[in-house]
Amino acid sequence: MTSKAERAAGTVRVPTVPPVPAPRSRADDYDRLRRGFSWQVARDRMSGLPGGRGLNIAYEAVDLHAEGPLAGKVAMRCRDLHGNVTDHTYADLATGSNRFANLLCRVGVGRGDRVFSLLGRVPELYVAALGTWKNTSVFAPLFSAFGPEPVRERMRIGEARVLVTTPRLYERKVAPVVGEMPHLEYVLLVGAAVDTSGSGAGDAGAGGPGRIDLRTALLDEPDDFEIPPTDPEDVALLHFTSGTTGRPKGAVHVHEAVVAHHATAVFALDLHENDVYWCTADPGWVTGTSYGIVAPLTHGVTMVVDEAEFDLRGWYSLLENERVTVWYTAPTALRMLMRYGAERARAHDLSALRFVASVGEPLNPEVVRWGEEAFGQPVHDNWWQTETGAIMIGNFANLAVRPGSMGRPIPGVNATLLVRGEDGRARVVDGEVGEVTEIDVVGEIALRPGWPSMFRGYVHDDARYAACFAGGWYLSGDLARRDADGYYWFVGRADDVIKSAGHLVGPFEVESVLLGHPAVAEVGVIGRPDPVAGEIVKAFVTPRPGVQVDDDLRLDLLAYGRRKLGAVAPREVEFAASLPHTRSGKVMRRLLRARELGLPEGDTSTLERL
Ligand code: ATP
Ligand code: MG
Repeated sequence: MTSKAERAAGTVRVPTVPPVPAPRSRADDYDRLRRGFSWQVARDRMSGLPGGRGLNIAYEAVDLHAEGPLAGKVAMRCRDLHGNVTDHTYADLATGSNRFANLLCRVGVGRGDRVFSLLGRVPELYVAALGTWKNTSVFAPLFSAFGPEPVRERMRIGEARVLVTTPRLYERKVAPVVGEMPHLEYVLLVGAAVDTSGSGAGDAGAGGPGRIDLRTALLDEPDDFEIPPTDPEDVALLHFTSGTTGRPKGAVHVHEAVVAHHATAVFALDLHENDVYWCTADPGWVTGTSYGIVAPLTHGVTMVVDEAEFDLRGWYSLLENERVTVWYTAPTALRMLMRYGAERARAHDLSALRFVASVGEPLNPEVVRWGEEAFGQPVHDNWWQTETGAIMIGNFANLAVRPGSMGRPIPGVNATLLVRGEDGRARVVDGEVGEVTEIDVVGEIALRPGWPSMFRGYVHDDARYAACFAGGWYLSGDLARRDADGYYWFVGRADDVIKSAGHLVGPFEVESVLLGHPAVAEVGVIGRPDPVAGEIVKAFVTPRPGVQVDDDLRLDLLAYGRRKLGAVAPREVEFAASLPHTRSGKVMRRLLRARELGLPEGDTSTLERL
């Protein structure tokens, strides 16, 4: 049966992959869980500030534990670039962040003021985030590998009053553009001593922002700090999106978001207090804050923080040596590990690992199955965005993983698909929670606003924010289909979907199939304009190490694609030593397309420079 909507949307093929079984009865748990859950229930699990003074992320994350039996527990185990490890207990984090908050207070930085960070994953980054929240200021973390332009752009948009960075990063990335940051008053420098004026409070005189040696200054600050009353709607975070589809947007989040961070980490990451947890994302991206700082600390876990970037040996040794139990990473990293084979993983004792999750990009079924070979368990994909602040759709520990699927909506999340009809008008597939009335229709993922970590706006861009909503739904810009059991399957970003000879081709499906070819390490698929077909499918392929790249391989890949995909197979294959990625690890298909067509590349501030 083909519905009108299906015809309008075109035919999107359904990957046929066997599910990885989980006990049948557990699926019922999902429905029961959904029925019994409400955000109010989740909110009631939060402690709140003593004396009913509101809700503050930092209190839920550290002070609460530091006041109880977890005070002496290691909250954060940090491995630096040289492999040195330092432990920080909940009590340490509570004190460190109190001192940071005292310092902010002393220099007159207060509620709503923006505190930016430009730091690697060093302990001070975490202390700064927590201290900023305690002070009811707004934390805006930037990825430390950004160059001066992206730093300037974001700090200007975000009206940064304070920047926490290192002397080295300051000299290289901030000093050249500091004259263009009119709001910047203080730079807190981590590491090598700098000239501090007065009592360490810096000087914000005519020569630009006052510079303060952070470590020295913190020594002088008191250990105690009383968090001021915090309205759950007080702004806590400013996060910039990955810039995959264009110029990055600054999404604003509030303290109430902690409710969603905490609850979703149980559903989608199976996180519990006795876990050793590692989130590989940098806090410069939303994952690295929501699930690399807030969620794990609110659960009282020990989290591992690795300052180094991806490194095959380093990663496996960290998983093994720290006995990581829950690991949250990204498809790009998993595909890189996969390139080198499952044996490399199996050479390590990863027996402590019981839950592996992934986010940020479509996770190919091939990678899910490889996870079983390498780690003895499937990878659990989940889906969300900077704007949603927390995981919205996920594969749960107690549900069978369907390789290639992003899973089912988190309890409390009311999701549906928005389908555009032939007349161009939009409608939602169904309006009710959990009710699936049409299956396998492709539409845009839409969410009913009301979850706690929903963004409250794009900074200085009300029009763009308003454009994200229609008919009472938040529109994500991502296309998916949903199967009869309510699992969501990613099709592509609305911007990336290819229309070829009457077919709507989701790049993800084509990429996943090609990734099944033994010569392929990574692949990015785009539509190239064609006078007959409208667009033809073109694949950019990065071969695995040691593979002979020649015309035979190209023909083999084209034939392989035709066999597996039929009409939607790529018509062109081009080999590339690497694909353009955002620094958060996403393939930038818009750049592949722009380069192919000789068009301007647009905003490349988040492009990973190799
Ligand atoms: P920009 O909005 O600036 O173009 P971005 O959308 O990549 O950048 P993020 O908010 O970091 O910025 O990423 C969210 C997007 O990542 C989602 O909208 C989706 O396209 C993609 N994504 C996240 N998780 C998944 C997943 N599990 N499967 C497929 N795609 C995913
Ligand atoms: Mg986006």
